[in-house]
Amino acid sequence: MPAPVRSFVMLGPPASGKGTQGRLLAEARGLAYLSTGARLRREIEQKSPLGQEAQAYLDRSQYVPDELAVRLVSDWLRKHAEGWLLDGFPRSIPQAEALVVLAGDSFSAIHLEVDSVDLRTRVVKRRECSTCGMVATEASEQCPKCGSLLRTRADDSIEAFEKRLSAYEQLTIPAVSFLEKKGLLISVDGSGSRDEVAQTIRERLS
Ligand code: ADP
Repeated sequence: MPAPVRSFVMLGPPASGKGTQGRLLAEARGLAYLSTGARLRREIEQKSPLGQEAQAYLDRSQYVPDELAVRLVSDWLRKHAEGWLLDGFPRSIPQAEALVVLAGDSFSAIHLEVDSVDLRTRVVKRRECSTCGMVATEASEQCPKCGSLLRTRADDSIEAFEKRLSAYEQLTIPAVSFLEKKGLLISVDGSGSRDEVAQTIRERLS
């Protein structure tokens, strides 16, 4: 019987490059990809019932309730049983516990470590594609991938960033430790260029 396809989650502070590296890895391995943050922003724009539930939290730069995040991910995982990559989930111990129930130990968690001074510099430069969600840091107004308009994310002010960083430290770091104790964690230095970090991830996974 062929070995099951390995799945992944990307963990890291805001602006650590989870989205960029997650997409690269998912493309390279042919994995289904879900960014919970990008999905929540889209649901909010579309004013869907889930978006309406999530909006007040994102407006205040807070995490959405665990129950909502788990609902989003478990619905998605039902359609992508094998070979997936989750970007931005789990973000808390209850979410990590729920994922272990849903997926057992079929996944590895890649934890991108970046110094908070570097994160602050990155966040003020960050642009996101309004159509495909690609993240770019260049000054151009056009997405290098699909040509749509790049825009600054509403949650990329320094004040919003500080709130998200503190939620990360309080709620997500314990989830990182939880996954480490389960032997599922791969920590990677995320401070280099996009290609350097991608190369490090490839090496760590080979
Ligand atoms: P960042 O990592 O830069 O904060 P994301 O695009 O991953 O950006 O997420 C944006 C926002 O969406 C988060 O700050 C949070 O409010 C919400 N969010 C995304 N994923 C989750 C999750 N798993 N649990 C709770 N809130 C989430």
